[in-house]
This record gives sequence, structure tokens and C-alpha cells, in this order.
Amino acid sequence: MNGMNLTADAARLPLMLTELRLPAIKRLWQRFAEQSNREGWTAERYLATLLEQEMHEREARRLARARAASRLPAGKTLDAFDFTAVPMLSKAHIRALAESDEWIEQGENLLAFGPPGVGKTHLVAAIGHALIDRGRRVLFARTGDLVQRLQAARRELKLPAELARLERFDLVILDDLSYVRRDQAESSVLFELIAERYERKSLAVTANAPFSAWEEVFPDKAMTVAAVDRLVHHATILEMNVESWRRRAAVPARRHSSEEESQ
Ligand code: ADP
Ligand code: MG
Repeated sequence: MNGMNLTADAARLPLMLTELRLPAIKRLWQRFAEQSNREGWTAERYLATLLEQEMHEREARRLARARAASRLPAGKTLDAFDFTAVPMLSKAHIRALAESDEWIEQGENLLAFGPPGVGKTHLVAAIGHALIDRGRRVLFARTGDLVQRLQAARRELKLPAELARLERFDLVILDDLSYVRRDQAESSVLFELIAERYERKSLAVTANAPFSAWEEVFPDKAMTVAAVDRLVHHATILEMNVESWRRRAAVPARRHSSEEESQ
């Protein structure tokens, strides 16, 4: 190979790498080529080094896309969650949920109950983030927003397509389910979502109100019972009956167990 050909090959590379969508290699091939020539790498090592970089960056982009598509609140991670504030929760149990694929593969559910401000949304979002880190697809939605979207889809006769879109997610988080009100006759879309995913795909639900108050959410009592039945059949239930984290943070002077944390 003479110098002319080398230059001609080098000149064609950027275009080919663009065409093949290999941005990492396009950015790095020259730098590694110099190192490779200097250190006498084999062609195999040079190629493997470049491909490894491309795969690495591709995975990072995929994770970033999945996290953006999840709509999960940023920063609500397990590392940022103070378990001492919710002594009835087992940290080991929550870690197991975040690190295991079994419940997701079985389509089991996760239900978090408690008054406002106790960290229900934070905790469920944290488990969602951990699942995304391990390559799962997660969708976080305020239940009211999702119900509205499903109702609009039903009016346009596109409910099956909208439900199919949700199929792509291993876990759908229905945040604040008990805030939904059956203001329209169509609110059984929420029941349809629950029935559709039952025993196949996981749901996580947060709610301020216990099941008994859910009759306000579904069109009638029978449907409420049927929905609750399906949600709890294979589910982990987290009861978080503690004082609001926000209130604790706002008025430390009234905190009962101030010996736990230094000011
Ligand atoms: P809920 O969904 O139960 O109303 P949130 O999860 O929205 O409560 O929590 C309210 C705020 O307090 C959020 O900013 C959340 O990150 C924070 N928070 C609640 N509990 C904890 C906790 N145990 N450790 C760290 N931050 C917490
Ligand atoms: Mg919440």
C-alpha cells in the first residue's frame, strides 16, 4: 500500500462512517490509528477497540433515550432516599425490587400507600430509575393525565393503539391514582388498562387513599372491586404511614425524634 492510497482511504472514511451511523468511530479512528501505528497494535486489536467504543456509546444513548421517554422525575433515586424516615420499609426489600427482574417478568405490581409527602412518588420513581439502568422500559405518568389521554384516544376510536403503545413498557407507574375522579362516563379506561396488563405487565401505583375510597375513581362499585382485585393479586404493598418529609424539613423544631439527625 502506498501513501497515496492511504490518504485516499482516509479521505473516504468520514463519509462512510457517517453513512453507517458510527459517530464514535468517526470521532476516534484517527486518534487510535496513530496510537496503533506507534505501539504496533494488531489490526484485530485496532478494530476491536473502535467497535467497543461505538457499542459503549450506543448503549449510553439508548439509556438516555429510555430515561427521557420514561418521564421519570430526575434525581429521585434510591441513593437520594432516606430510609430512616420510613422505618416500616425494609431497605433490603426495596433494593431487591430495584435489582430483580423477576417481578417485572411475572407482571407483578407495586402499590405504595400513605399520606401526602411521605416519599411514595420518590420511592416508586427510584425503582423505575434502577430498572431503566438495567435496560428495562418504564413509563411514569400522573394517573389523571394518562386517563385523559386514554379517554381522548377512545373518543377517536384509537384506544387499542394507545394501549398497545403502553405495551412497550415493562413497568407503567400510575402516580396519584386516588386523585382521579370519574367526572366522565368514560373513566373505565383506567380499568381497561389494569385488566389489559393483569398477570402480564407490571403496574406501580401510588395513592393517598386506601382501596375503600377508590369507589370515587371507577364508574361503579363492581368495577372498583374488580380493579382492586387485579391490582393486588400479585403485588407488593408498601404502607408508608409516616409524617410528611416536606413538613419534617420545614419545621425541624417540632420534630419528635430529633436525636436521629444532627441539625
Ligand atoms: P408523596 O408522593 O408521598 O406525596 P414525594 O415522593 O413527592 O411524596 O416526596 C415529597 C418530597 O420529599 C420529594 O421532594 C421527595 O424527594 C422528598 N422525600 C420524601 N421522602 C423522602 C425520603 N425518605 N428521603 C429523601 N427524600 C424524601
Ligand atoms: Mg406523590
